[in-house]
Amino acid sequence: MDATVAVTAVDEVGPDTYAIRFETPEGLTAEPGQFVKLGTEIDGEHVARFYTLSSPTVGETFEVTVGIDPEEGGEFSAFLAAVEPGVEMTLAGPFGDQHYDGEGRVVVLAGGPGVGPAVAIAERALDEGGEAAVVYRDDDPAHEARLDALRERGATVAVLDGAADLTDPVADALTGSDDEGVFVYGFGEFVADATDAIEAAGGDADAAKVENFG
Ligand SMILES: Cc1cc2nc3c(=O)[nH]c(=O)nc-3n(C[C@H](O)[C@H](O)[C@H](O)COP(=O)(O)OP(=O)(O)OC[C@H]3O[C@@H](n4cnc5c(N)ncnc54)[C@H](O)[C@@H]3O)c2cc1C
Repeated sequence: MDATVAVTAVDEVGPDTYAIRFETPEGLTAEPGQFVKLGTEIDGEHVARFYTLSSPTVGETFEVTVGIDPEEGGEFSAFLAAVEPGVEMTLAGPFGDQHYDGEGRVVVLAGGPGVGPAVAIAERALDEGGEAAVVYRDDDPAHEARLDALRERGATVAVLDGAADLTDPVADALTGSDDEGVFVYGFGEFVADATDAIEAAGGDADAAKVENFG
């Protein structure tokens, strides 16, 4: 669908990381792991980028989590970092089929702003009576309150620094059970490391749900 959406809240959830909540347009339904295309006018041109849901469900509002890379990030993430409640932008979507789909156990591997779908999918799995494990790599971790809450609810959460090798933490998270779904969210370098780690642990990277942020 195409719609115009208004921001209802912005929270800084870590260094250079913002959770942005929007009023849900009529008719929008989406699952955590799907993404929407948000757009605005910058210097007279329409600019739009994709952002993945970081709320476990879509109700009256929904959320995305935006990471700003001070060195590589560009104009759209800078625009989002400065938005305030009431700002409107265009929305298209939802897109993507690499989303939570009722798996009994979720293992979510996240790099940088991939932590948004990671917390959303883990929360949703626990809400539905399932199990969750998160392996999150970032020099400056975000969403720590939601990660702590997940630990308290019984999820396994490993937070690794940006240079960490994923092999052992991914091997520890994977059980190989029949109802286990493996998810990967992040920029290209992280996705490559995560899929290598799945294979090294004896898992099947082709069966994982993978969303590459670029
Ligand atoms: C399917 C999909 C889902 C996405 N979901 C999210 C999401 O949930 N949250 C989110 O923050 N971004 C997400 N992205 C990335 C997002 O769409 C933008 O590309 C990003 O915000 C940068 O936009 P920009 O205009 O600021 O910079 P651009 O000028 O478009 O990009 C500049 C360069 O910086 C790199 N880059 C930008 N930000 C980062 C970062 N934080 N870490 C590492 N490299 C970076 C990009 O790869 C690119 O090469 C997603 C992308 C895709 C394709």
